[in-house]
Amino acid sequence: MALWARRATGLFLGGAWPGRSVGQMSTQAGLLKPLAREKAACHSKISIIGTGSVGMACAISILQKGLGDQLALVDANEDLVQGETLDLQHGSPFARMPHIVSGTDYLVTADSSLVIITAGARQREGESRLDLVKRNVSIFRSIVSSVIQYSPHCKVLVVSNPVDILTYVAWKLSNLEPNRVLGSGCNLDTARFRVLLAQRLGVHPESCHGWVLGEHGDSSVPVWSGVNVAGVSLRNLSVHDITKEEPEAWGRVHQEVVASAYRIIRMKGYTSWAIGLSVADLTESILRNLRRVHPVSTQVKGLYGITQDVFLSVPCVLGENGVTEQILVPLSPEEQAGLRKSAETLWEIQKQLRF
Ligand code: NAD
Repeated sequence: MALWARRATGLFLGGAWPGRSVGQMSTQAGLLKPLAREKAACHSKISIIGTGSVGMACAISILQKGLGDQLALVDANEDLVQGETLDLQHGSPFARMPHIVSGTDYLVTADSSLVIITAGARQREGESRLDLVKRNVSIFRSIVSSVIQYSPHCKVLVVSNPVDILTYVAWKLSNLEPNRVLGSGCNLDTARFRVLLAQRLGVHPESCHGWVLGEHGDSSVPVWSGVNVAGVSLRNLSVHDITKEEPEAWGRVHQEVVASAYRIIRMKGYTSWAIGLSVADLTESILRNLRRVHPVSTQVKGLYGITQDVFLSVPCVLGENGVTEQILVPLSPEEQAGLRKSAETLWEIQKQLRF
């Protein structure tokens, strides 16, 4: 069933999938009566670069939702990508997306609609953020040029950290229009925020509305003015300011959002499931052209007095063209200052990068 090649692995089922062997075709001849000649075509191919913990969590979430008609996986580690591919292929009877191809060669990603980048170097002990970024820029240089070579019309979704800077790097290296390059940004921070609100209120997280914007991670900005359930603002309900310490400890919610990644990494070594599920949600909006609104990292020069060429999270409409609109959220002067401070910090690093 599986096609093996030194640099590419694939399981192709049915029709004119390129992996059909002569043996397969003669077996099919006795079993299937062809009615139409199928052209090998992918309408919604998704590629994931990097098959580590995050890449595979994205893969399984996307497969379970059946979001495309082919999934391509690429990693620099040949054994890892082959092993992960075989493992996933054996689950094909239970998934709604059986066509999985993989390899170390970017040829397998050809004609992707969406390319998700989760590859990258991990921060070494004592390594500065700038040095980590520089190492990731050199990794991204080869990844992005290969991605664009085989899928010049794709959208690129960056997940690797530091996600806001690497989204800018991917945009610079790809020469794509800014709407076609986005980062997962504060999508995960916002999910964590909603979960923590939901736990306090006893209401499903989907019904707890609230946004975390700006820079992914420590400097993210919670927009308390927008926190509501069924349109009822929590700020109006609260006797005191909900961002301050009080019996329900609302003020601690955002601190917990920021601390949660460190907590999980301390306990299991990495984070994976929530980012995988949240990336699949973004993928669904893009591939199915849903025009849902998500907090993703996008080019924000000109918003909130930001003058630098940086990518930060604001609510964005996502569809088949990537980011089609940014939502203009009225932010308090403190919240705007938070975004401007992040922009300055990111630009201090970005201006030292050479492409
Ligand atoms: P990991 O080390 O398990 O996986 C990284 C993979 O990238 C490895 O399999 C490695 O072989 C591969 N790789 C390295 N260089 C490559 C190259 N040049 N070409 C192809 N593949 C290459 O790391 P992980 O835990 O999966 O995390 C991946 C990234 O996602 C990290 O940067 C992490 O910080 C980030 N992350 C982001 C978020 C978010 O919210 N944006 C959340 C969690 C993790």
